[in-house]
Amino acid sequence: MTVIRQTVSAPPAGGRRFRAYTAKHLDELTARAGLSHEDRLAVRAVGAVLPFRTNSYVVEDLIDWAAAPDDPIYRLVFPQADMLPADDVRGIADLLACGASDVDISTAAHEVRMRLNPHPAGQLALNIPDLGDEPLPGVQHKYPETVLIFPKQGQTCHAYCTYCFRWAQFVDEPDLKMATADISRVMDYLRQHREVTSVLVTGGDPMIMGAPVLRRYLEPLLEPGLEHIESVRIGSKALAYWPQRFVSDPDADETLRLFERVIASGRALAFMAHFSHPRELEPPLVAEAVRRIRATGAVIRTQAPLIRTINDDPATWGAMWRAQVRMGMVPYYMFVERDTGPQDYFAVSLTRAYGIYSAAYRQVSGLCRTVRGPSMSATPGKVCIDGITEIAGQKVFVLHMIQARDPDLVGKPFFARYDPDAAWLSDLEPAFAARFPFEPDPEDLPGLWAPPVFEPAG
Ligand code: SF4
Repeated sequence: MTVIRQTVSAPPAGGRRFRAYTAKHLDELTARAGLSHEDRLAVRAVGAVLPFRTNSYVVEDLIDWAAAPDDPIYRLVFPQADMLPADDVRGIADLLACGASDVDISTAAHEVRMRLNPHPAGQLALNIPDLGDEPLPGVQHKYPETVLIFPKQGQTCHAYCTYCFRWAQFVDEPDLKMATADISRVMDYLRQHREVTSVLVTGGDPMIMGAPVLRRYLEPLLEPGLEHIESVRIGSKALAYWPQRFVSDPDADETLRLFERVIASGRALAFMAHFSHPRELEPPLVAEAVRRIRATGAVIRTQAPLIRTINDDPATWGAMWRAQVRMGMVPYYMFVERDTGPQDYFAVSLTRAYGIYSAAYRQVSGLCRTVRGPSMSATPGKVCIDGITEIAGQKVFVLHMIQARDPDLVGKPFFARYDPDAAWLSDLEPAFAARFPFEPDPEDLPGLWAPPVFEPAG
């Protein structure tokens, strides 16, 4: 049941004890933000549909309560009453107000979720590979050289972002979850696929796992027969939401020794850190956590989506990239908010996204210009907006593919007719061509929209 969750307490840590807040605490916490009874009920209705979880560090150290509910960190973790269609929110709020059963609330929430495109970019249908004749759940193989692993115990986070594109992982909908605990099948797959050079361990947040569990997923990657795996990536927001994980938690040192073992094996370890706002970088504890991770030899690359009302201005991104470089991290991606969940609420038009990206880019030194974007992680691949210009009297978006299901398309420029309201790839129409390069020739169906099949390398 998503509506009411219990507080989950981890064992006491060397620093502050981890305390999670869940939907059960929404009324109390949103009262602290000064919301009326009616608004709090609407927020609880949204919290019945989309996941809510935060923790004592985010609440006490990151949120500026004097500025709530407009504070960007508050908006980053707390549901907003207008994130979902008003009729849906009113319907569930009425159920909550009249004390409806958990089953009734859950049924209503399920109906709303199914209208929110829970797995964008065909993640459940297109990217799950086969081992033998059986699918390999909890693994995605979208691009030849990269495999994503979703560890079963890593499918939660220290706090949830309101805009999360993987929100379906966290709600009470078993059919929407991607996860595996069968690491030996994953290793069998990787042994057969020597074209894979990079493995991304992702979630949720893999750093929610304690060191002994994390080791079960990382150490097998270092075994003989997997020498073709050149880099291991860990996607995590723990540096923003629970930096204690690398400094004062009981298994902080053990975790860092595990990172060192990956590097000692001759592989690169890239810690893909998700930071949404420069405020997340301010606590001294974050600088110490960054220092300790970097001391293992890991490289920290940073990424985040561009989100309306949270980080949609150039000064915020410029400040964030500069602080990251100062701390020794490498800015990597600005993403466009994906076409799932409350995208309508958080989306920024592609025109604005490009304007914010390029204005922020102009503010920073060359060391920050390792960043790429604004990039859409869409079904055919990662599509980057390179500019808006006029060609032969026609205003167009200039685009290229950073990543593609079809490797021949990587880096190839193409054009879309300018549309000031477009917010996602599916809103665009091709310019100077009958179709986009990633779209199949009607003569040649099913073309690129079919699941990729990567033959095991000899
Ligand atoms: S940290 Fe990542 S996976 Fe977790 S809620 Fe935020 S966006 Fe989603």
